[in-house]
Amino acid sequence: LYHQQTIEDDMVRAMENNEFVMYLQPKYSISTGKIIGAEALTRWIHPEKGMIAPVDFIPIFEKNGFILRLDQHIWECACKKIHEWIENGIKPVPVSVNISREYINNFNVVEYFAELIKKYNIPVHLLEAEITESIDAEDTSGVVNNMKKIGFTMLMDDFGSGYSSLNMLKTTPFDVLKIDRNFLSEFMESDKGRKIIAHTISMTQDIGLDIIAEGVETNEQAQFLSKCGCDIVQGFYYSKPIPAEEFDKRLYREQIVN
Ligand code: C2E
Ligand code: MG
Ligand code: MG
Repeated sequence: LYHQQTIEDDMVRAMENNEFVMYLQPKYSISTGKIIGAEALTRWIHPEKGMIAPVDFIPIFEKNGFILRLDQHIWECACKKIHEWIENGIKPVPVSVNISREYINNFNVVEYFAELIKKYNIPVHLLEAEITESIDAEDTSGVVNNMKKIGFTMLMDDFGSGYSSLNMLKTTPFDVLKIDRNFLSEFMESDKGRKIIAHTISMTQDIGLDIIAEGVETNEQAQFLSKCGCDIVQGFYYSKPIPAEEFDKRLYREQIVN
């Protein structure tokens, strides 16, 4: 309660003081070794406490509603960044942002996203949205459907972390499935688990979705995923989430080398 209280006392000031910063974690293709996209993740850079991780404030913001302000801020940062790449002649890659469950029921998220890409004048395929698998399927379906009508790419986040709803996979037209970090690491430990991962990947592709593995920490994991046909990875083995300026440099460096 004390932790929650200190966070809540500080959040509005922190927002005004620009302490919520967008980090980008690159998504890589195993086969080419190149960056093919990024996920936008929030870091709270506190003047006294240093960097605070999302796990320490996102759940609190989800409860008190401040997540609505935070998410909008990060979506805006992502759009600004994409716009800046285009302006500066850097070949842009798609950036995915997280949509919190608060938005699914209480907010016209579809209209908001449509306005954002208009405001920053960016092609719709460059902004992608992640929704976690643990969100109730009925409401999610409507949002995903309407987002897709406009042309946004929709990612199902954290697959394998909770109920891994096959029902949601069947009814909700996601474009991409993201395999959860713990699912990957825990299931890789046994022969049975590895088979489940392999079949999850082939089943996903068979029903027409792309697949990304999250939380790849070892070469062994990357090689296994590659063998199973999953080429896109996001994880510390390739890169941690980094400040946006550092991401710019990496992207630019890759592009001038080729
Ligand atoms: P997520 O959307 O599933 O994001 C992936 C998380 O996995 C990130 O944690 C990332 O740093 C971490 N990760 C990626 N690769 C590895 C790895 O190889 N090893 C390990 N140990 N971790 C890895 P992060 O940044 O701490 O964020 C945690 C969660 O907080 C996110 O999970 C997302 O659900 C939420 N979150 C972060 N930023 C935002 C935001 O701006 N808005 C909303 N709504 N949620 C956010
Ligand atoms: Mg995510
Ligand atoms: Mg995830």
